[in-house]
Amino acid sequence: MPEGDTVLRTARRLHLALAGRPLIRTELRWPTLGHADLAGRTVTEVVAYGKQILTRIAAADGDAPQPRIPTVSADPLTLRSHLRMEGRWYIHARDAEPWPPQSRGSVRAVLGGTEWTAIGTWLGLLDLIPMAAEATLIGHLGPDIMADAFVPDGALEAERRLTADPQRHVGAALLDQTTVAGIGTMYMAEALFVQKTSPWTPIGEVDIPALLATARRQLLRGATQAVPSTTGNPRRGLENWVHGRSGKPCQRCGTIIRVAPIGPVLKERPAFYCPQCQPGPTPTDDGRPRNPLGANPKIREDRRPTGYRRGR
Ligand SMILES: [Zn+2]
Repeated sequence: MPEGDTVLRTARRLHLALAGRPLIRTELRWPTLGHADLAGRTVTEVVAYGKQILTRIAAADGDAPQPRIPTVSADPLTLRSHLRMEGRWYIHARDAEPWPPQSRGSVRAVLGGTEWTAIGTWLGLLDLIPMAAEATLIGHLGPDIMADAFVPDGALEAERRLTADPQRHVGAALLDQTTVAGIGTMYMAEALFVQKTSPWTPIGEVDIPALLATARRQLLRGATQAVPSTTGNPRRGLENWVHGRSGKPCQRCGTIIRVAPIGPVLKERPAFYCPQCQPGPTPTDDGRPRNPLGANPKIREDRRPTGYRRGR
């Protein structure tokens, strides 16, 4: 699943391709947006907020000829897209490829600019709303950990939200987008490894400023990398310290990496960790290697952790 770094990289590419120029032709292949036509409108900017991509579109030009039956409001608009599991935005030069045919079932949105065409495939969410109403879509989210303004104000607000329940497991609190936006299972696991902290540590016992600084540094670096790597080693299987490496030896200490579900019931996500490098509470799991939960939804009930113990 794409995390904040991929979303930020995507938003930057869309901004370079579309911002400051009018759209020539558009298609939103989304049930509720099928008739929305944004041709003639200018993209002002494309920004990321956590895992959301916000394509901001200027008000309609009052002097330009208007369609006889307007399909969208003349006010400034925001097109919100979310990559969810498989979503991607591709960009190609305007005349390099034909306009995607309707038969290309993966296509959810096409934004044709004067120079570039952006094609969104398998998008998880797509909304077109007045720009003034953006807060209805993202207002509940915590501060964006990759935003320029995160230091210091956003970090203080994120810490306040994260510690609202000091008993909460730090891994679960980081994944909750309403506390801090942009961290998924990968950067949760990787930041906690670097901080030598078990994902099941009560967040009240964690050095939160240091943890947020580490996660932010990893995400911002990932946004500049074609293959995000937290270890600095781009070799396949060695890009990460623990995420996706259950059953393999820790690159620091050689202990077998483990994985167990974390988070509220029915919303559990996989947390990968090294029991040696990350002392603290750990689930009483059986230690067997597993795929991430998304890849293997049939986790057997009897393999769920039943309790917690103090590690080491
Ligand atoms: Zn280790």
